[in-house]
Amino acid sequence: MSTVKIIPLGGFDKIGMNMTLIECGDSIVAVDCGMSFPPTNMPGISSSIPDVSYLKENADRFKGIVLTHGHEDHIGAIPYIIRELPVPIYGTPLTITLVEDKLRDFGIKGIKTRAIQAGKTIVVGEFKVEFIKTNHSIPDSVMLAVHTSEGVIVDTGDFKFDMSPIIGDKADMQRLSALGAKGVLAVLSDSTNAMIKGMSKSEMDVYQQLDWFFNFYNKNRLIITTFASNMERIQQILNLGKKYNKKVAMEGEVMLRVFSAARKLGYMDIPEGVLIDAEDVGNYSDEELVYLITGNHGESVQSISRIASGEHPGIRVKRDDVVLFSSVAMQGDEVEFNRTLNMLEEHGAIVEFGDIHATGHACAGELKLLYSLLQPKFVIPAHGEYRYRREAKKVACSIGIPAGDVLMVRNGDVIELTADSCKVTGRLSLEEVLIDGYEKSSVAHAILEERQKLSESGIVVVEVCIDKKSGRYASGVNVTSKGFVELESSPALKNSIQEAALSELSRFINQGVRDDRAGNGVSKAVRELILQETGKDPIVVALLTEVML
Ligand SMILES: [Zn+2]
Repeated sequence: MSTVKIIPLGGFDKIGMNMTLIECGDSIVAVDCGMSFPPTNMPGISSSIPDVSYLKENADRFKGIVLTHGHEDHIGAIPYIIRELPVPIYGTPLTITLVEDKLRDFGIKGIKTRAIQAGKTIVVGEFKVEFIKTNHSIPDSVMLAVHTSEGVIVDTGDFKFDMSPIIGDKADMQRLSALGAKGVLAVLSDSTNAMIKGMSKSEMDVYQQLDWFFNFYNKNRLIITTFASNMERIQQILNLGKKYNKKVAMEGEVMLRVFSAARKLGYMDIPEGVLIDAEDVGNYSDEELVYLITGNHGESVQSISRIASGEHPGIRVKRDDVVLFSSVAMQGDEVEFNRTLNMLEEHGAIVEFGDIHATGHACAGELKLLYSLLQPKFVIPAHGEYRYRREAKKVACSIGIPAGDVLMVRNGDVIELTADSCKVTGRLSLEEVLIDGYEKSSVAHAILEERQKLSESGIVVVEVCIDKKSGRYASGVNVTSKGFVELESSPALKNSIQEAALSELSRFINQGVRDDRAGNGVSKAVRELILQETGKDPIVVALLTEVML
Protein backbone atom coordinates (compact mmCIF):
# COMPACT_ATOMS: atom_id res chain seq x y z
CA MET A 1 0.00 0.00 0.00
CA SER A 2 1.43 3.41 -0.95
CA THR A 3 0.91 6.58 1.03
CA VAL A 4 -0.40 9.82 -0.30
CA LYS A 5 1.02 13.09 1.02
CA ILE A 6 -0.53 16.53 1.21
CA ILE A 7 1.88 19.41 1.81
CA PRO A 8 0.54 22.97 2.04
CA LEU A 9 3.21 25.48 0.96
CA GLY A 10 0.92 28.45 1.62
CA GLY A 11 -2.62 29.52 2.45
CA PHE A 12 -2.84 28.08 5.97
CA ASP A 13 -1.31 30.63 8.31
CA LYS A 14 -2.52 33.82 6.73
CA ILE A 15 -4.87 34.72 3.90
CA GLY A 16 -3.41 34.46 0.40
CA MET A 17 -0.45 32.65 -1.21
CA ASN A 18 -2.44 29.47 -1.73
CA MET A 19 -0.47 26.43 -2.90
CA THR A 20 -0.89 22.81 -1.83
CA LEU A 21 1.07 19.80 -3.05
CA ILE A 22 -0.47 16.38 -3.41
CA GLU A 23 2.09 13.62 -3.78
CA CYS A 24 2.08 9.87 -4.39
CA GLY A 25 4.84 7.62 -5.71
CA ASP A 26 6.49 9.31 -8.68
CA SER A 27 4.01 12.17 -8.96
CA ILE A 28 3.57 15.55 -7.33
CA VAL A 29 0.82 17.90 -8.42
CA ALA A 30 0.38 21.45 -7.11
CA VAL A 31 -3.10 22.80 -6.52
CA ASP A 32 -2.89 26.59 -7.16
CA CYS A 33 0.18 28.80 -7.05
CA GLY A 34 -0.77 32.14 -5.55
CA MET A 35 0.86 35.23 -4.11
CA SER A 36 0.00 37.02 -0.91
CA PHE A 37 -1.50 40.48 -0.77
CA PRO A 38 0.83 43.44 -0.18
CA PRO A 39 1.98 43.64 3.44
CA THR A 40 1.77 47.06 5.08
CA ASN A 41 4.94 46.90 7.15
CA MET A 42 7.47 46.16 4.39
CA PRO A 43 8.45 49.24 2.35
CA GLY A 44 8.42 48.61 -1.41
CA ILE A 45 7.33 44.99 -1.11
CA SER A 46 4.41 44.10 -3.33
CA SER A 47 3.79 40.55 -2.16
CA SER A 48 5.27 37.23 -1.13
CA ILE A 49 5.20 33.86 -2.89
CA PRO A 50 5.47 30.27 -1.66
CA ASP A 51 8.90 28.74 -1.00
CA VAL A 52 9.15 25.99 -3.62
CA SER A 53 12.57 24.58 -2.60
CA TYR A 54 10.97 21.17 -2.01
CA LEU A 55 9.65 21.13 -5.58
CA LYS A 56 13.09 22.10 -6.92
CA GLU A 57 14.62 19.17 -5.02
CA ASN A 58 11.97 16.88 -6.48
CA ALA A 59 11.63 18.51 -9.90
CA ASP A 60 11.65 15.17 -11.75
CA ARG A 61 8.47 14.11 -9.94
CA PHE A 62 6.65 17.45 -10.32
CA LYS A 63 4.00 16.81 -13.01
CA GLY A 64 1.87 19.92 -13.18
CA ILE A 65 -0.09 22.78 -11.61
CA VAL A 66 -3.88 22.55 -11.48
CA LEU A 67 -5.80 25.73 -10.73
CA THR A 68 -9.11 26.33 -8.97
CA HIS A 69 -9.71 29.91 -10.19
CA GLY A 70 -8.07 33.06 -11.53
CA HIS A 71 -7.60 35.25 -8.42
CA GLU A 72 -4.07 36.50 -7.74
CA ASP A 73 -3.84 34.62 -4.45
CA HIS A 74 -4.26 31.42 -6.49
CA ILE A 75 -2.32 32.13 -9.73
CA GLY A 76 -0.10 35.16 -8.96
CA ALA A 77 3.11 33.27 -8.13
CA ILE A 78 3.19 31.26 -11.37
CA PRO A 79 5.51 33.62 -13.33
CA TYR A 80 8.03 33.64 -10.46
CA ILE A 81 8.40 29.87 -10.22
CA ILE A 82 7.55 28.49 -13.66
CA ARG A 83 10.90 29.35 -15.30
CA GLU A 84 12.73 27.04 -12.91
CA LEU A 85 9.95 24.48 -12.76
CA PRO A 86 8.49 24.41 -16.29
CA VAL A 87 5.52 22.06 -15.78
CA PRO A 88 2.16 22.10 -17.62
CA ILE A 89 -0.59 24.30 -16.17
CA TYR A 90 -4.25 23.25 -16.19
CA GLY A 91 -7.30 25.37 -15.39
CA THR A 92 -10.72 26.41 -16.66
CA PRO A 93 -10.79 28.68 -19.76
CA LEU A 94 -10.93 32.05 -17.94
CA THR A 95 -8.24 31.02 -15.44
CA ILE A 96 -5.95 29.80 -18.22
CA THR A 97 -6.52 32.98 -20.26
CA LEU A 98 -5.44 35.06 -17.24
CA VAL A 99 -2.38 32.85 -16.70
CA GLU A 100 -1.41 33.13 -20.37
CA ASP A 101 -1.70 36.94 -20.12
CA LYS A 102 0.63 36.85 -17.14
CA LEU A 103 3.20 34.64 -18.86
CA ARG A 104 3.14 36.98 -21.86
CA ASP A 105 3.67 40.01 -19.56
CA PHE A 106 6.71 38.34 -18.04
CA GLY A 107 8.05 37.26 -21.46
CA ILE A 108 7.86 33.58 -20.51
CA LYS A 109 7.54 31.21 -23.44
CA GLY A 110 7.30 27.45 -23.94
CA ILE A 111 5.04 26.60 -20.99
CA LYS A 112 2.24 24.18 -21.80
CA THR A 113 -1.17 25.51 -20.72
CA ARG A 114 -4.44 23.64 -21.13
CA ALA A 115 -7.98 24.94 -20.69
CA ILE A 116 -10.27 22.35 -19.09
CA GLN A 117 -14.05 22.73 -18.88
CA ALA A 118 -15.76 22.16 -15.52
CA GLY A 119 -17.10 18.58 -15.44
CA LYS A 120 -14.01 17.14 -17.17
CA THR A 121 -11.30 14.90 -15.73
CA ILE A 122 -7.64 14.96 -16.76
CA VAL A 123 -4.66 12.78 -15.97
CA VAL A 124 -1.65 14.46 -14.32
CA GLY A 125 1.15 12.01 -13.43
CA GLU A 126 -0.51 9.18 -11.63
CA PHE A 127 -3.48 11.25 -10.52
CA LYS A 128 -6.83 11.79 -12.14
CA VAL A 129 -7.98 15.35 -11.48
CA GLU A 130 -11.63 16.22 -11.86
CA PHE A 131 -12.87 19.81 -12.33
CA ILE A 132 -16.17 20.44 -10.52
CA LYS A 133 -18.22 23.61 -11.11
CA THR A 134 -18.54 25.88 -8.11
CA ASN A 135 -19.45 29.51 -7.37
CA HIS A 136 -17.10 32.29 -6.29
CA SER A 137 -16.51 35.97 -7.04
CA ILE A 138 -14.81 35.30 -10.40
CA PRO A 139 -16.36 33.19 -13.18
CA ASP A 140 -15.10 29.70 -14.03
CA SER A 141 -14.20 28.70 -10.45
CA VAL A 142 -13.93 24.99 -9.73
CA MET A 143 -13.26 22.55 -6.92
CA LEU A 144 -10.75 19.84 -7.74
CA ALA A 145 -11.27 16.18 -6.91
CA VAL A 146 -7.90 14.45 -7.03
CA HIS A 147 -8.36 10.69 -7.42
CA THR A 148 -5.43 8.91 -5.72
CA SER A 149 -4.61 5.29 -4.97
CA GLU A 150 -5.83 5.80 -1.40
CA GLY A 151 -9.05 7.65 -2.18
CA VAL A 152 -10.45 10.94 -3.41
CA ILE A 153 -9.09 14.24 -2.06
CA VAL A 154 -11.28 17.28 -2.73
CA ASP A 155 -9.71 20.76 -2.67
CA THR A 156 -12.56 23.29 -2.70
CA GLY A 157 -10.42 26.31 -3.66
CA ASP A 158 -12.43 29.43 -2.79
CA PHE A 159 -16.12 28.61 -3.08
CA LYS A 160 -19.69 29.40 -2.15
CA PHE A 161 -22.99 27.82 -3.12
CA ASP A 162 -25.03 30.43 -5.00
CA MET A 163 -28.46 29.08 -5.94
CA SER A 164 -29.17 32.08 -8.20
CA PRO A 165 -25.93 33.24 -9.78
CA ILE A 166 -25.95 36.00 -12.40
CA ILE A 167 -23.27 34.44 -14.62
CA GLY A 168 -22.95 30.71 -15.30
CA ASP A 169 -24.45 27.74 -13.52
CA LYS A 170 -24.97 26.77 -9.92
CA ALA A 171 -22.28 24.68 -8.24
CA ASP A 172 -22.43 21.01 -9.28
CA MET A 173 -23.85 19.67 -6.03
CA GLN A 174 -25.03 16.49 -7.74
CA ARG A 175 -21.44 15.57 -8.52
CA LEU A 176 -20.30 16.36 -4.98
CA SER A 177 -23.09 14.16 -3.67
CA ALA A 178 -22.14 11.32 -6.07
CA LEU A 179 -18.52 11.55 -4.93
CA GLY A 180 -19.70 11.45 -1.32
CA ALA A 181 -21.79 8.34 -1.97
CA LYS A 182 -18.75 6.56 -3.40
CA GLY A 183 -16.51 7.74 -0.57
CA VAL A 184 -14.26 10.76 -0.16
CA LEU A 185 -11.00 10.34 1.75
CA ALA A 186 -10.33 14.00 2.63
CA VAL A 187 -11.48 17.53 1.90
CA LEU A 188 -9.44 20.73 2.09
CA SER A 189 -12.07 23.41 2.51
CA ASP A 190 -12.28 27.22 2.30
CA SER A 191 -12.51 28.55 5.89
CA THR A 192 -12.59 32.30 5.10
CA ASN A 193 -16.17 32.82 6.32
CA ALA A 194 -16.52 29.89 8.73
CA MET A 195 -17.20 32.40 11.52
CA ILE A 196 -20.34 33.70 9.78
CA LYS A 197 -23.49 31.72 10.50
CA GLY A 198 -26.00 30.73 7.84
CA MET A 199 -25.61 30.95 4.08
CA SER A 200 -23.87 33.64 2.05
CA LYS A 201 -26.01 36.08 0.10
CA SER A 202 -26.75 35.32 -3.54
CA GLU A 203 -25.69 37.67 -6.33
CA MET A 204 -29.40 37.87 -7.20
CA ASP A 205 -30.10 39.50 -3.81
CA VAL A 206 -27.37 42.04 -4.55
CA TYR A 207 -28.95 42.70 -7.94
CA GLN A 208 -32.32 43.48 -6.40
CA GLN A 209 -30.78 45.90 -3.93
CA LEU A 210 -28.68 47.61 -6.63
CA ASP A 211 -31.83 47.88 -8.74
CA TRP A 212 -33.50 49.69 -5.83
CA PHE A 213 -30.62 52.22 -5.67
CA PHE A 214 -30.59 52.77 -9.45
CA ASN A 215 -34.30 53.47 -9.30
CA PHE A 216 -34.19 55.67 -6.19
CA TYR A 217 -31.24 57.74 -7.44
CA ASN A 218 -32.33 57.80 -11.08
CA LYS A 219 -31.62 61.54 -11.38
CA ASN A 220 -28.15 61.38 -9.82
CA ARG A 221 -24.74 60.59 -11.20
CA LEU A 222 -23.59 57.25 -9.76
CA ILE A 223 -20.07 56.25 -8.75
CA ILE A 224 -19.89 52.53 -7.93
CA THR A 225 -16.89 50.61 -6.60
CA THR A 226 -16.43 46.89 -6.82
CA PHE A 227 -13.66 44.30 -7.05
CA ALA A 228 -12.00 44.09 -10.43
CA SER A 229 -12.55 40.40 -11.06
CA ASN A 230 -16.16 40.32 -9.93
CA MET A 231 -17.73 39.89 -13.36
CA GLU A 232 -21.14 39.00 -11.92
CA ARG A 233 -21.36 42.39 -10.24
CA ILE A 234 -20.17 44.16 -13.37
CA GLN A 235 -22.75 42.27 -15.42
CA GLN A 236 -25.47 43.40 -13.00
CA ILE A 237 -24.40 47.03 -13.27
CA LEU A 238 -24.41 46.85 -17.08
CA ASN A 239 -27.87 45.25 -17.02
CA LEU A 240 -29.14 48.00 -14.71
CA GLY A 241 -27.50 50.61 -16.94
CA LYS A 242 -29.62 49.28 -19.79
CA LYS A 243 -32.77 49.18 -17.66
CA TYR A 244 -32.38 52.78 -16.44
CA ASN A 245 -30.95 54.28 -19.64
CA LYS A 246 -27.53 55.00 -18.19
CA LYS A 247 -24.05 55.00 -19.72
CA VAL A 248 -21.35 53.09 -17.83
CA ALA A 249 -17.71 54.24 -17.93
CA MET A 250 -15.31 51.70 -16.41
CA GLU A 251 -11.87 52.23 -15.00
CA GLY A 252 -9.22 50.00 -13.44
CA GLU A 253 -6.57 48.16 -15.41
CA VAL A 254 -7.05 44.80 -13.71
CA MET A 255 -10.76 44.88 -14.33
CA LEU A 256 -10.38 45.68 -17.99
CA ARG A 257 -8.07 42.70 -18.30
CA VAL A 258 -10.44 40.18 -16.64
CA PHE A 259 -13.39 41.82 -18.36
CA SER A 260 -11.91 41.47 -21.83
CA ALA A 261 -10.93 37.83 -21.14
CA ALA A 262 -14.44 37.01 -19.87
CA ARG A 263 -15.99 38.87 -22.79
CA LYS A 264 -13.84 36.99 -25.32
CA LEU A 265 -14.98 33.69 -23.82
CA GLY A 266 -18.60 34.78 -24.13
CA TYR A 267 -19.23 34.86 -20.35
CA MET A 268 -20.47 38.45 -20.39
CA ASP A 269 -23.62 39.62 -22.08
CA ILE A 270 -22.93 43.27 -22.88
CA PRO A 271 -26.14 45.20 -23.55
CA GLU A 272 -25.98 47.43 -26.62
CA GLY A 273 -25.09 51.12 -26.12
CA VAL A 274 -24.39 51.02 -22.37
CA LEU A 275 -20.60 50.89 -22.16
CA ILE A 276 -18.79 54.11 -23.04
CA ASP A 277 -15.13 55.14 -23.11
CA ALA A 278 -14.02 57.18 -20.10
CA GLU A 279 -12.92 59.96 -22.50
CA ASP A 280 -16.48 60.35 -23.81
CA VAL A 281 -18.21 61.13 -20.52
CA GLY A 282 -18.35 64.82 -21.48
CA ASN A 283 -20.98 63.97 -24.12
CA TYR A 284 -23.51 62.91 -21.49
CA SER A 285 -25.47 64.62 -18.72
CA ASP A 286 -24.74 63.73 -15.08
CA GLU A 287 -27.97 61.83 -14.61
CA GLU A 288 -27.07 59.54 -17.50
CA LEU A 289 -23.67 58.58 -16.08
CA VAL A 290 -22.41 55.67 -14.00
CA TYR A 291 -18.71 55.48 -13.14
CA LEU A 292 -17.58 51.96 -12.32
CA ILE A 293 -14.40 52.12 -10.23
CA THR A 294 -12.58 48.87 -9.66
CA GLY A 295 -9.35 47.42 -8.41
CA ASN A 296 -7.88 44.65 -6.33
CA HIS A 297 -8.84 44.86 -2.68
CA GLY A 298 -7.45 48.22 -1.43
CA GLU A 299 -7.09 49.66 -4.94
CA SER A 300 -10.74 50.56 -5.52
CA VAL A 301 -10.77 52.39 -2.18
CA GLN A 302 -7.58 54.20 -3.22
CA SER A 303 -9.27 55.33 -6.44
CA ILE A 304 -12.29 56.59 -4.54
CA SER A 305 -10.02 58.40 -2.11
CA ARG A 306 -8.30 60.13 -5.05
CA ILE A 307 -11.72 61.16 -6.36
CA ALA A 308 -12.72 62.42 -2.90
CA SER A 309 -9.54 64.50 -2.51
CA GLY A 310 -9.71 65.96 -6.04
CA GLU A 311 -6.55 64.15 -7.18
CA HIS A 312 -8.23 61.85 -9.68
CA PRO A 313 -7.34 62.77 -13.28
CA GLY A 314 -10.80 62.20 -14.73
CA ILE A 315 -13.47 62.43 -12.04
CA ARG A 316 -14.39 65.27 -9.66
CA VAL A 317 -16.98 64.49 -7.04
CA LYS A 318 -19.97 66.86 -7.06
CA ARG A 319 -22.97 67.68 -4.91
CA ASP A 320 -25.64 64.96 -5.19
CA ASP A 321 -23.30 62.36 -6.67
CA VAL A 322 -24.18 58.96 -5.21
CA VAL A 323 -21.27 56.72 -4.22
CA LEU A 324 -22.21 53.03 -3.88
CA PHE A 325 -19.70 50.72 -2.19
CA SER A 326 -20.44 47.35 -3.78
CA SER A 327 -17.40 45.72 -2.17
CA VAL A 328 -16.04 45.06 1.29
CA ALA A 329 -15.58 48.57 2.64
CA MET A 330 -12.78 48.13 5.13
CA GLN A 331 -9.99 46.70 3.04
CA GLY A 332 -6.73 48.13 4.25
CA ASP A 333 -6.46 51.37 6.14
CA GLU A 334 -9.52 52.19 8.22
CA VAL A 335 -8.37 55.72 9.07
CA GLU A 336 -7.77 56.55 5.40
CA PHE A 337 -11.16 55.09 4.53
CA ASN A 338 -12.97 57.23 7.08
CA ARG A 339 -11.15 60.31 5.79
CA THR A 340 -12.39 59.45 2.30
CA LEU A 341 -15.99 59.11 3.47
CA ASN A 342 -15.78 62.48 5.23
CA MET A 343 -14.38 64.20 2.14
CA LEU A 344 -17.04 62.68 -0.11
CA GLU A 345 -19.81 63.91 2.15
CA GLU A 346 -18.20 67.34 2.56
CA HIS A 347 -18.42 67.68 -1.23
CA GLY A 348 -22.14 66.94 -0.93
CA ALA A 349 -22.03 63.37 -2.19
CA ILE A 350 -24.36 60.69 -0.82
CA VAL A 351 -22.59 57.51 0.32
CA GLU A 352 -24.41 54.16 0.42
CA PHE A 353 -23.30 50.68 1.53
CA GLY A 354 -26.62 48.95 2.16
CA ASP A 355 -26.58 45.27 1.16
CA ILE A 356 -24.92 45.78 -2.19
CA HIS A 357 -22.12 43.30 -1.69
CA ALA A 358 -22.11 39.51 -1.41
CA THR A 359 -19.07 37.57 -0.30
CA GLY A 360 -17.48 35.00 -2.58
CA HIS A 361 -16.77 32.60 0.28
CA ALA A 362 -18.93 29.94 1.92
CA CYS A 363 -20.40 30.72 5.34
CA ALA A 364 -20.89 28.09 8.06
CA GLY A 365 -24.16 26.86 6.56
CA GLU A 366 -22.56 26.15 3.20
CA LEU A 367 -19.66 24.34 4.89
CA LYS A 368 -22.21 22.10 6.61
CA LEU A 369 -23.80 21.43 3.24
CA LEU A 370 -20.39 20.71 1.67
CA TYR A 371 -19.39 18.23 4.38
CA SER A 372 -22.84 16.60 4.27
CA LEU A 373 -22.65 16.11 0.50
CA LEU A 374 -19.06 14.81 0.49
CA GLN A 375 -19.15 12.86 3.79
CA PRO A 376 -15.35 12.92 3.94
CA LYS A 377 -13.39 10.65 6.29
CA PHE A 378 -11.01 13.51 7.05
CA VAL A 379 -11.36 17.28 6.94
CA ILE A 380 -8.44 19.71 6.64
CA PRO A 381 -9.74 23.28 7.03
CA ALA A 382 -7.74 25.48 4.63
CA HIS A 383 -7.63 29.05 3.31
CA GLY A 384 -7.40 31.22 6.34
CA GLU A 385 -5.89 32.18 9.63
CA TYR A 386 -5.98 29.81 12.60
CA ARG A 387 -9.20 31.18 14.12
CA TYR A 388 -11.15 30.76 10.88
CA ARG A 389 -9.88 27.23 10.43
CA ARG A 390 -10.67 26.37 14.05
CA GLU A 391 -14.22 27.59 13.44
CA ALA A 392 -14.46 25.39 10.33
CA LYS A 393 -13.38 22.48 12.52
CA LYS A 394 -16.31 23.21 14.86
CA VAL A 395 -18.66 23.20 11.87
CA ALA A 396 -17.32 19.81 10.71
CA CYS A 397 -17.67 18.36 14.21
CA SER A 398 -21.21 19.74 14.50
CA ILE A 399 -22.36 17.44 11.72
CA GLY A 400 -20.80 14.37 13.27
CA ILE A 401 -17.23 14.25 11.95
CA PRO A 402 -15.04 13.11 14.90
CA ALA A 403 -12.74 15.89 16.17
CA GLY A 404 -9.75 13.57 15.75
CA ASP A 405 -10.47 13.34 12.02
CA VAL A 406 -10.33 17.12 11.49
CA LEU A 407 -6.71 18.24 11.14
CA MET A 408 -5.40 21.67 12.02
CA VAL A 409 -2.19 21.98 10.01
CA ARG A 410 0.35 24.68 9.18
CA ASN A 411 2.18 25.65 6.02
CA GLY A 412 5.01 23.15 5.54
CA ASP A 413 3.38 20.26 7.46
CA VAL A 414 3.66 16.92 5.68
CA ILE A 415 0.35 15.10 6.01
CA GLU A 416 0.33 11.39 5.19
CA LEU A 417 -2.88 9.64 4.20
CA THR A 418 -3.79 6.03 3.68
CA ALA A 419 -7.28 4.71 3.03
CA ASP A 420 -8.00 4.87 6.76
CA SER A 421 -5.54 7.25 8.36
CA CYS A 422 -4.50 10.88 8.06
CA LYS A 423 -1.76 12.42 10.18
CA VAL A 424 1.08 14.94 10.16
CA THR A 425 4.35 13.00 9.95
CA GLY A 426 6.92 15.66 9.16
CA ARG A 427 7.61 19.25 8.37
CA LEU A 428 9.37 21.26 5.65
CA SER A 429 11.05 24.43 6.81
CA LEU A 430 9.79 27.25 4.60
CA GLU A 431 11.41 30.65 4.02
CA GLU A 432 9.46 33.80 3.27
CA VAL A 433 10.07 34.77 -0.38
CA LEU A 434 9.38 38.47 -0.99
CA ILE A 435 8.69 40.20 -4.30
CA ASP A 436 10.04 43.70 -4.74
CA GLY A 437 7.75 46.38 -6.22
CA TYR A 438 7.57 46.02 -9.97
CA GLU A 439 10.73 43.90 -10.01
CA LYS A 440 10.04 40.43 -11.15
CA SER A 441 12.42 38.92 -8.63
CA SER A 442 12.60 38.20 -4.95
CA VAL A 443 14.36 40.45 -2.46
CA ALA A 444 16.65 39.82 0.51
CA HIS A 445 15.60 40.61 4.06
CA ALA A 446 18.76 42.75 4.58
CA ILE A 447 17.52 45.20 1.95
CA LEU A 448 14.17 45.40 3.69
CA GLU A 449 15.89 46.26 6.96
CA GLU A 450 17.73 49.10 5.20
CA ARG A 451 14.43 50.43 3.81
CA GLN A 452 12.86 50.26 7.22
CA LYS A 453 15.78 52.25 8.62
CA LEU A 454 15.62 54.78 5.79
CA SER A 455 11.96 55.34 6.47
CA GLU A 456 12.62 55.81 10.19
CA SER A 457 15.86 57.84 10.33
CA GLY A 458 16.87 58.78 6.77
CA ILE A 459 20.33 58.79 5.26
CA VAL A 460 23.53 60.83 5.81
CA VAL A 461 26.21 60.98 3.10
CA VAL A 462 29.78 61.99 4.02
CA GLU A 463 32.11 62.77 1.07
CA VAL A 464 35.87 63.40 1.14
CA CYS A 465 38.34 63.66 -1.74
CA ILE A 466 41.78 62.08 -1.29
CA ASP A 467 44.85 63.00 -3.31
CA LYS A 468 45.85 59.84 -5.15
CA LYS A 469 49.55 60.68 -5.10
CA SER A 470 50.09 61.86 -1.53
CA GLY A 471 47.25 59.90 0.08
CA ARG A 472 46.25 63.03 2.09
CA TYR A 473 42.75 64.40 1.95
CA ALA A 474 42.33 66.99 -0.73
CA SER A 475 39.04 68.64 0.26
CA GLY A 476 36.91 69.45 3.25
CA VAL A 477 34.21 67.00 4.35
CA ASN A 478 30.95 67.48 2.52
CA VAL A 479 27.93 66.29 4.53
CA THR A 480 24.45 65.93 3.04
CA SER A 481 21.35 64.18 4.31
CA LYS A 482 17.83 63.14 3.30
CA GLY A 483 15.01 62.40 5.71
CA PHE A 484 17.35 62.94 8.69
CA VAL A 485 17.54 66.49 10.20
CA GLU A 486 17.95 69.90 8.55
CA LEU A 487 21.79 70.05 8.79
CA GLU A 488 22.00 73.69 7.65
CA SER A 489 20.08 74.75 10.73
CA SER A 490 22.20 72.53 13.01
CA PRO A 491 25.74 73.82 12.29
CA ALA A 492 27.10 72.36 15.52
CA LEU A 493 26.01 68.86 14.55
CA LYS A 494 27.36 69.32 11.04
CA ASN A 495 30.73 70.39 12.48
CA SER A 496 30.92 67.43 14.82
CA ILE A 497 30.16 65.07 11.91
CA GLN A 498 32.92 66.67 9.82
CA GLU A 499 35.40 66.45 12.71
CA ALA A 500 34.54 62.83 13.50
CA ALA A 501 34.90 61.90 9.83
CA LEU A 502 38.25 63.65 9.46
CA SER A 503 39.79 62.28 12.62
CA GLU A 504 38.78 58.72 11.73
CA LEU A 505 39.97 59.14 8.15
CA SER A 506 43.33 60.52 9.34
CA ARG A 507 43.79 57.40 11.45
CA PHE A 508 43.41 55.17 8.38
CA ILE A 509 45.50 57.42 6.14
CA ASN A 510 48.35 57.43 8.64
CA GLN A 511 48.34 53.62 8.47
CA GLY A 512 48.37 53.80 4.64
CA VAL A 513 44.85 52.31 4.40
CA ARG A 514 42.68 53.79 1.63
CA ASP A 515 40.32 50.95 0.67
CA ASP A 516 36.83 49.93 1.88
CA ARG A 517 38.11 49.60 5.43
CA ALA A 518 38.63 53.37 5.59
CA GLY A 519 35.15 54.09 4.21
CA ASN A 520 33.53 51.61 6.61
CA GLY A 521 35.49 53.04 9.53
CA VAL A 522 34.40 56.60 8.73
CA SER A 523 30.75 55.68 8.40
CA LYS A 524 30.87 53.71 11.66
CA ALA A 525 32.44 56.65 13.54
CA VAL A 526 29.91 59.12 12.10
CA ARG A 527 27.03 56.79 12.91
CA GLU A 528 28.14 56.43 16.52
CA LEU A 529 28.50 60.20 16.87
CA ILE A 530 25.03 60.86 15.45
CA LEU A 531 23.46 58.24 17.70
CA GLN A 532 25.15 59.81 20.72
CA GLU A 533 24.18 63.39 19.83
CA THR A 534 20.67 62.92 18.46
CA GLY A 535 19.42 59.46 19.46
CA LYS A 536 18.79 58.75 15.75
CA ASP A 537 20.33 55.92 13.79
CA PRO A 538 20.31 56.86 10.09
CA ILE A 539 22.08 54.96 7.33
CA VAL A 540 25.53 56.58 6.93
CA VAL A 541 27.34 56.29 3.61
CA ALA A 542 30.98 57.45 3.39
CA LEU A 543 32.24 58.24 -0.11
CA LEU A 544 36.02 58.49 -0.37
CA THR A 545 36.97 59.63 -3.85
CA GLU A 546 40.58 59.54 -5.04
CA VAL A 547 41.56 62.49 -7.22
CA MET A 548 44.72 63.46 -9.15
CA LEU A 549 45.81 66.94 -8.17
ZN1 LIG B 1 -10.68 33.71 -4.82
